[in-house]
Amino acid sequence: MSIKKIVTFLVPCKNCSNTITVSSVDELKKSGWTFNQATYSNKIEFDSLSNILCPKCSKLDHDLKYTSEDIHDRISAGYYDDFPEKFEPDVLIDLDINDHPNRHKLYLIAWEMGHGSGYSEMYNIAHKLSILLKP
Ligand SMILES: [Zn+2]
Repeated sequence: MSIKKIVTFLVPCKNCSNTITVSSVDELKKSGWTFNQATYSNKIEFDSLSNILCPKCSKLDHDLKYTSEDIHDRISAGYYDDFPEKFEPDVLIDLDINDHPNRHKLYLIAWEMGHGSGYSEMYNIAHKLSILLKP
């Protein structure tokens, strides 16, 4: 008879005193905890995680980003998934090209090139192209 040893990890929340004991990153995720992965890897290790938040703090963090004025916060909180029509005006204001006559053309190019990869990629393309509209 063999005994399988289960290794568990005590994970602390970055923002409060909550902790959880889990045996895998998957289990952590399933418990409603959130985190950033420092580097992409097929095998996610605990020591590659950052900004680990318990479910309560995850919700606060999400709500804060969702209502933030910062376009990057809004993108990461999924704000534009709910309000896609707000993305173009927010991008144009953020890039300070809101008065430029070619702003809508620039946005259309960024949309064509980036919408398959999401709002963040579209923003990056629009940001690069916006240099061309500046004196
Ligand atoms: Zn917490």
